[in-house]
Amino acid sequence: MARNSWGHCSHCKYFASPAAAPLDGEEAACDEPGLAKLELRVFGTCGCKRFELRKGLAPTVERPRAAV
Ligand code: SF4
Repeated sequence: MARNSWGHCSHCKYFASPAAAPLDGEEAACDEPGLAKLELRVFGTCGCKRFELRKGLAPTVERPRAAV
């Protein structure tokens, strides 16, 4: 996925969770090099434009879901 695409922390490679597929309600640090100095704690449902897809996850995890 291209850099500067908005995405959720739970799907981001910089989300400092030990899980392969973190949950939306999980809280962890953000290790993105430009943000790490801020020592942010973020939830899986948070997100930003520095998002990069987490290894092992399909790009489709960030596609909009149909309303039910
Ligand atoms: S704040 Fe941005 S860079 Fe940090 S984990 Fe969340 S989406 Fe990734």
